[in-house]
Amino acid sequence: MRTPPGISASDFSAALQKCANVIGQSWVFSSDEDVDLYRDAYSPVRGLVDERVPSAALAPASVEEVQSLVRIANEYRIPLYPVSTGRNLTYGGTAPVYNGSVVLDLKRMNRILEINEAGAYCMVEPGVSYFDLYRYIHAHKLKLRIDPPDPGWGSPTGNSLEHGVGRGPYRDHFRAHCGLEVVLGNGDLLRTGMGALPGSGSLWQRFRYGYGPYIDGIFSSSNFGIVTKFGIHLLPEPELSRVFDISISRYEDLDDFVQEFAQLFDVGVLNSISQMGMPLLSMQIPEARALLESPGGGSSTQWNELRDRLGKPPWQITQLNCQGPAKIVEAQYDYIVDRLSRFSGFKVESRRDYGPSPDPDQVPGQDKCALGIPSLVIFGGVGMGRGHGHLDFSPAYPMTGEAVRKINQLLQQGYREADMPWRGWTGGNTWFDKTFTMITGFGLENDSEQNRKAVAAFRHLMQLLGANGFAEYRTHPLFQDLLLEQYSFNEHALRRFHETVKDAIDPQGILAAGRAGIWPKHLRDKREGRL
Ligand SMILES: Cc1cc2nc3c(=O)[nH]c(=O)nc-3n(C[C@H](O)[C@H](O)[C@H](O)COP(=O)(O)OP(=O)(O)OC[C@H]3O[C@@H](n4cnc5c(N)ncnc54)[C@H](O)[C@@H]3O)c2cc1C
Repeated sequence: MRTPPGISASDFSAALQKCANVIGQSWVFSSDEDVDLYRDAYSPVRGLVDERVPSAALAPASVEEVQSLVRIANEYRIPLYPVSTGRNLTYGGTAPVYNGSVVLDLKRMNRILEINEAGAYCMVEPGVSYFDLYRYIHAHKLKLRIDPPDPGWGSPTGNSLEHGVGRGPYRDHFRAHCGLEVVLGNGDLLRTGMGALPGSGSLWQRFRYGYGPYIDGIFSSSNFGIVTKFGIHLLPEPELSRVFDISISRYEDLDDFVQEFAQLFDVGVLNSISQMGMPLLSMQIPEARALLESPGGGSSTQWNELRDRLGKPPWQITQLNCQGPAKIVEAQYDYIVDRLSRFSGFKVESRRDYGPSPDPDQVPGQDKCALGIPSLVIFGGVGMGRGHGHLDFSPAYPMTGEAVRKINQLLQQGYREADMPWRGWTGGNTWFDKTFTMITGFGLENDSEQNRKAVAAFRHLMQLLGANGFAEYRTHPLFQDLLLEQYSFNEHALRRFHETVKDAIDPQGILAAGRAGIWPKHLRDKREGRL
């Protein structure tokens, strides 16, 4: 049996026995075979000394059981690591940040507590997956649409708490939540917003602020509590969904084009996710490679000539989508086309229209997610790494042409300095307002030397971008300390604030030590750079 650091085998056995008395022996997992299932399947350091491996897992079925387990953990000072459905692949899976923590697996808490069709919201327990929600809505013929991330097997709770994203109008999942119930590190139970007002009923899922400081945010991307109930706003099933891809042809139009695109969000015409692409600026194309590697990266004339020769546009936007009443969608589409058609070579590359509740079997894989249909098709198409997954590097940057250029130049430099293959310019996703978020990174192989190189390169990219004012918005546990290190204004005032909160509400440092770079007082020497 593995044990958490600093806990004797006998104390750990005694603690697990107490846990078994609360949740039943069959929901306490401590054999190596069971615990192995909670390792990070995508870990770049799998099997190596740096891998974060839990010592056991516990699967409670109710909030009362969660509270009891937290009290036992406090008694024995056992570190807990809560997960909802635990599908956080590429950002750590179910593995804890602090090696040897006990995973608190909330998958059994899988009740849909309420779905309100008229009000378009729901309240779920953490173990409810996007598949569960979708099936429930369709089994009950509710006219509602959910917004899953690309893999549908995760949960609204876990995904949103990671600042995860989808493709529909509620793409920024934490922003679409309304109302939390949270078990604190001392076992106390808190409801946020209107949930604090006894008898407020559905106002909890309708009005997010309640009264006083808006504290929901501190429970996301943090280790301040265990979320046991989660409210979400849903989209009334749209009459028409139109998904389309566009492109323009002149290299020098980048800044104007991005500005115009950003404006379409700012005026409220666009609100769903789309992806900017740069099919011409790819290292896979030998002539493009030569330009990208030339001093200055190629002139407009050179890029425009190459475009003419290869018939590939420099700039495109895919998966633009408008969803809502048919008349409004038609007007949105017309407006977007009108506004962008001033760009030379503007083309609608492809356009797909879907009515309400489209039959999943008739929707092509790439459109499923935007239409609220959870699936796992993404795993058929990722193609990064022949081994065991990939490591995503996810920086955020302003939605401007200047930033698009700057971040791609920095990445080119970073990959070269780290001696890793760069694939060419990468476009941004519009998951968050006014911001592009890019996913680049590394495929992981069954080759520890290659993976070690990927880890070193990842760290190099993080530091290089950090020094230039860009940073990731979420990252794998191996890099969470280094990521927070980049957010260093005023001698790490932000980290000092997090630590003050942590010490106040989880004084024994039981919950998710190290998550988001936040360590409890007694483990602060474990923080990277403090060893
Ligand atoms: C190919 C591929 C594509 C992907 N595409 C997307 C995508 O489109 N969008 C996206 O957002 N992500 C994407 N991901 C990342 C990831 O798979 C999803 O975000 C997934 O939904 C996260 O898993 P989960 O929902 O089970 O969360 P969990 O693993 O349950 O939770 C994530 C983390 O949040 C914390 N947490 C979870 N529940 C609680 C709780 N109840 N209380 C306190 N803390 C908690 C924990 O630290 C946990 O590790 C992708 C991954 C892969 C491999």
